[in-house]
Amino acid sequence: MEANNFIVRVEPSVRYDYIFCGTGASASLLLLELERNNLLLHKRVLLIDPENKNRKDKTFCFWSTEDEPITQNLNPLISKSWDTIAHTPLEQLSLSPLSYNHVDSIDLYHKIQSLAEIHHWDKIVGYVTEFAKEAEETFVVVNSTRIAGQNIFDSRPPVHQPAQSNEVHIYQSFIGWIIETESAVLNPDVFKFMDFNIAQQGSTQFVYVLPFSSNKALVEVTRFGSNQINTTEAEEILKDYILNYYGNYKILDVERGSIPMSNTKIESETTEGVINLGARNYNIKPSTGYAFKNMYYQALAITETLKSGGNLSAFNKDHHNTFKGRFAFYDALLLDILKNNPSYGKPIFIELLKKVETKTTLKFLDEQTNLIEEISIFLQLPWKPFLQALFKKIISTSWVQPLILLGITLLFVLLNKFAALQNLVGYALFFIGMVAVGIPHGAVDHLLETGNWDLKKAPIFVLKYLFLAALMGLIWYFLPSLALIGFLVYSSWHFGQADGKKWRFNPLTSLLWGASVLAFILGTHLDEANTILVGMGNISLPFNVPVWALLPWMIWALFRKQTGFVLTLIWLSLSSQIPLMLSFGLYFIGQHSLTSWKHLQLHLKISNKIIWLQSLPFHLGAWLILGFFYFFWPLQSEFNQSQQWGIFFIFIACISFPHVIAMHGMYRKQ
Ligand SMILES: Cc1cc2nc3c(=O)[nH]c(=O)nc-3n(C[C@H](O)[C@H](O)[C@H](O)COP(=O)(O)OP(=O)(O)OC[C@H]3O[C@@H](n4cnc5c(N)ncnc54)[C@H](O)[C@@H]3O)c2cc1C
Repeated sequence: MEANNFIVRVEPSVRYDYIFCGTGASASLLLLELERNNLLLHKRVLLIDPENKNRKDKTFCFWSTEDEPITQNLNPLISKSWDTIAHTPLEQLSLSPLSYNHVDSIDLYHKIQSLAEIHHWDKIVGYVTEFAKEAEETFVVVNSTRIAGQNIFDSRPPVHQPAQSNEVHIYQSFIGWIIETESAVLNPDVFKFMDFNIAQQGSTQFVYVLPFSSNKALVEVTRFGSNQINTTEAEEILKDYILNYYGNYKILDVERGSIPMSNTKIESETTEGVINLGARNYNIKPSTGYAFKNMYYQALAITETLKSGGNLSAFNKDHHNTFKGRFAFYDALLLDILKNNPSYGKPIFIELLKKVETKTTLKFLDEQTNLIEEISIFLQLPWKPFLQALFKKIISTSWVQPLILLGITLLFVLLNKFAALQNLVGYALFFIGMVAVGIPHGAVDHLLETGNWDLKKAPIFVLKYLFLAALMGLIWYFLPSLALIGFLVYSSWHFGQADGKKWRFNPLTSLLWGASVLAFILGTHLDEANTILVGMGNISLPFNVPVWALLPWMIWALFRKQTGFVLTLIWLSLSSQIPLMLSFGLYFIGQHSLTSWKHLQLHLKISNKIIWLQSLPFHLGAWLILGFFYFFWPLQSEFNQSQQWGIFFIFIACISFPHVIAMHGMYRKQ
């Protein structure tokens, strides 16, 4: 093992009482607490980190009152505190009884190193690669060696899963200079929290100033947004800002970093006996990037649990529970605004800092306010961006889409007695839905591979696509029964794949679900379905499906507490009471195409409008091919309504064949 200032040789046979995988902020705070409570006396402790932690890499700040445990217990490490805040150069506000405290990361790491020397803790410089559980023993694997431990804490940096619909992953990126000014121009008692008087560069960004003395300060430019700030952008702002407010200066040190502002799922370790800490245990507040205080109080709680001999596994947070509740909801709205409407960030924060007392704002950020206080805060903020974000959130909430579909199904059921009106409304919606999303969702396959229309690959792509569609057409022409079986199988697969991703089914369940939906829609409208199928090649389906056939799925959906799935099953069951084409249209457009559209948008990461525009050439092409089918497809009998739908479905079967293959490729990549 490589040596550093406190080191060691690790015998694989040794079983440690405590193993820390990662020795950054969260692990250091926990080590401090455990040591302060004498829980590490005569214990075998192992620290594992690829870094020696001999370098100042972060500035940790947090707000607290004087008598809070975090202030009391970390007091020796707090190198500077401010109790006056300024948001603009002229304005100064007292924070009392709060203070804003600063801990230098190197002081924290040095403290741990000195404790390690005193107590003879072991250290490995290396990467933990995995964990294992065998015969009641949990192991850490590092440098290909397995080491057993009783309490294992994992604080390796988190890996976030890609954002799902209703989730946001952006960054708080920052570059700061520790400067020494030529003259004593700084007020060391006043720190600047968020000065938005800088160019916003299409994001939400501000300057943050921590003065350590009258001529030394950390001046940092921070950006909230999808694109992280780069050195050139930051340097330009910092130079102007410092020269403007503080005059000539020299740079002593640079701090740079990026904190995820995210409500996405973190890929956490699930091996029994491994406790997640820090950022990987959802301790970063998504809307602010602050984590230090959360990590400290978690360290305190873990220590108390160990003192009382309790079980630590409850400290492992999961995604679902972390992002529940009203504060997670507020965070989600703000994240959405910062990502999608960054120009609103500055006015929102300026109003917040101007109109709401800073102490109240900090209490709100600590999630300690009550509902009345929160309403009074929101009343001070610009409404429009929050209402927009709220509307978007409601629309993309899992139960809204099926609730709307349930409403439309009920309307069609009520219109059963007024067939002409039902047809008018139903087919108008069908046509609008097909133009808006039904056909376009299948007309962006050319973007799936690279997100761009690659002109070099285009002709081959188009030829391949047309070849597969034509192949399907030939099968329909010569072997309609085989074509129908194929169409039903790949449609089941395709419908199941989209819904299965939405409701987190495994591939087999997805296929079963897709087949159930198709069988249900066709089998509960057997006469109508067979009239159309006769027009597609003298074929017919042999089965009748009862209205209650989706009941097993309903029990399962209730068991899984999936409201959206339950509502879908209700409207699908009700749709057995309306004409086949309306029932099919509701599923194909309202459920399948919209769901696939959301998946496409997540994959392509472009706006709805741009996806729709990019689909136009293939979308128009599809209508042309449909026209071609109506002119040239040989009729089974005279041209009537069922013949018309028969040709329509042969066309759908042909163009959806290459689409199903392309979408399968996308889902596999995801
Ligand atoms: C520059 C910066 C400044 C910040 N300032 C503040 C602030 O002022 N206030 C606040 O509340 N929050 C702040 N944060 C956010 C948060 O408090 C920090 O990110 C904090 O360091 C998170 O603690 P952690 O223990 O989860 O991760 P870290 O402190 O990053 O520790 C993770 C450790 O894991 C180690 N590691 C990596 N891979 C492996 C592996 N395979 N095996 C073993 N070890 C591994 C790393 O070397 C590192 O030492 C800041 C973040 C950054 C980046």
